[in-house]
Amino acid sequence: MNTELDELYQSVILDHSKRPRNFGEIADGAVQVHGDNPSCGDEIDLSVKFAADGAVEDVKFKGLGCAISQASASLMTMKLKGKSETEAREMLRAFHDLVTSEVADPPRMLGDLRLLAGVRKFPQRVKCAMLGWRAFEQALEQKAGGTVSTEEA
Ligand code: ZN
Repeated sequence: MNTELDELYQSVILDHSKRPRNFGEIADGAVQVHGDNPSCGDEIDLSVKFAADGAVEDVKFKGLGCAISQASASLMTMKLKGKSETEAREMLRAFHDLVTSEVADPPRMLGDLRLLAGVRKFPQRVKCAMLGWRAFEQALEQKAGGTVSTEEA
């Protein structure tokens, strides 16, 4: 990683960990998932509101933990919002590849998330970077399993 990229990486991570985007909780009709990463002490509560066709209508998170876990979750919510289910799954797979294997040409759709590629050198950090995404994966499963609560009267 060259110095310029390193600095960009640091500033984006710091910015998102200090001022997380889409921070909070969706009250109505959202799938709620809790995820944690005991090895680092990171926690996240993710709310995902899916449209009838499976698209990610809205997504918010609350969490605490290291800068990487929070920044990755923040960047993730920005990227997932408004995506179709297919696009969201594609992004999940692409991000996982990015942080676990050598990707010569990371897909453009990942945007600033590509800056997190460096964590692949640090296995402990991979868990931090994947925490939000694991929670999102769980949300997709819950939705598919039909455990989403029925509409309130
Ligand atoms: Zn962490």
